[in-house]
Amino acid sequence: MADALITLEAVSKRFGTVEAVRASSFSIADGEFFTMLGPSGCGKTTTLRMIAGFELPSGGRILLRGEDVTEVPPNRRPVNMVFQHYALFPHMSVLDNVAFGLKLKKVPKQERRRRALEMLEVVALDGLEQRKPQQLSGGQQQRVALARALINNPAALLLDEPLGALDVKLRRALQLELKRVQSETGTTFVYVTHDQEEALAMSDRIAVMNHGVVDQIGTPREIYEHPTTPFVADFVGSLNALEVVIDEVVGDSVVCRFGEVGRVVAPAPHGASSGSTWRIAVRPERVTIGTEQVAFDGGSRLSGTLQQVVYLGMLTQYHVDTPAGRVVSHRMNDEAGLSLETGAEVHVGWAADHTSVLGPASS
Ligand code: ATP
Repeated sequence: MADALITLEAVSKRFGTVEAVRASSFSIADGEFFTMLGPSGCGKTTTLRMIAGFELPSGGRILLRGEDVTEVPPNRRPVNMVFQHYALFPHMSVLDNVAFGLKLKKVPKQERRRRALEMLEVVALDGLEQRKPQQLSGGQQQRVALARALINNPAALLLDEPLGALDVKLRRALQLELKRVQSETGTTFVYVTHDQEEALAMSDRIAVMNHGVVDQIGTPREIYEHPTTPFVADFVGSLNALEVVIDEVVGDSVVCRFGEVGRVVAPAPHGASSGSTWRIAVRPERVTIGTEQVAFDGGSRLSGTLQQVVYLGMLTQYHVDTPAGRVVSHRMNDEAGLSLETGAEVHVGWAADHTSVLGPASS
C-alpha cells in the first residue's frame, strides 16, 4: 500500500502456550477507518496493543510510515498514536478533561481552552464544558473521551470496543457520530469490536479475525457480499450454508441439480469438477420466495415445504426445507401480497452472482 501509515508483517504473539496472534500481515492507510472484527479471544486486543507498542510481538515486524518500530516503546515512536480510554477524571470538568493532553504538553491556558472548546464542538458537546463527568450520560462521557484523545491530533487513534458499555440504541447513534468525527478530522481510526453490525456501519475496511488469524480483509460490502471463508460468512450476517454436489461445470459456473427443475448455480471455484462436494452460501435477503416457480435467468431455484414463519417486525423469516437443505428467505414487511402458511409448497430462488463458494465440503 503506497501511503500506508501502519504495516504489520507476519506479526505473531504467544503467551506461554497460547498463540494469540499468528503471522498477521496487513497495512492500514492514512486516514482510514480500519476495524478488527472477531469473536472474544481471537486476538484483536493483542494486535491493537502491539500496534500501540504496549506489547512486544513474538515474531514479525511493525512499520509506521515505513519505519521499523517493532521494538520502539510507545512514547519514542515517530508517529503519535493514542489509545482511547473511556475512564474520565471524575474531579475535572469536561473542559479540563478534554484539555488535559495539552496541559501535559505545556500549551498556554488560553490556547488550551480555545482548542478544547473547538474539539467539544466537533463531538457535539458544546455548552456542557463546565459539567463534571458524573453529570453526563454514558454516550456524552464517551464523546468527552473521544475529544480528549483527538485533541492531541494523533496520526492514529486506537479504539478497543469503545461503545461496549452502552445500550444498543445509544451504540447505534454513537457509531454514526464516530464515523462523522473520523471523516471530519481525517484521523486514522484503528477500531476493535466483536459487533459485526458496528463494523459494517463504520469501517472503510474490516479485518475479520478468527483464532489469531486474519481470515479476510475487505470493504464492508466485500466482506458481506463475498465472504471467502466459512467463518467469515457465518460470523458476518446471517447465512444459508449448503453442501452441494457439482453435476456440471459450464464455463465459469457450476450447476448442481435437484429433481426436474431444481438447481443451485454458483461461480466455478478453482478445482471444481463433476461429482465433487462444495460448501456454498447465500444471504437470506437475497432469496426470493413465492408460490410460483421463481424465474432467475441462470440463477438458483429450489422447491420445498415452508416449515416456519418468523415475524420480526421489519422483516419476516421464511424457513423452507428443500432437497438441498434448509433455506431461509428474509422478506421486508413492506412487500404486499405475500401471505404464506406453514406446510405450503413454495419455491425459492436467487440470482447466480449471489451464491458464494466457501470451499470444498471437507474443509
Ligand atoms: P476480547 O474481545 O474478549 O477482548 P480479543 O479478540 O481482544 O478478545 P485478546 O485479548 O487479544 O482477544 O486475546 C487473545 C488470546 O490471548 C486469548 O486466548 C487470551 O486469553 C490470550 N491472552 C491475551 N493477553 C494475555 C496475557 N497477557 N497473558 C496470557 N494470555 C493472554
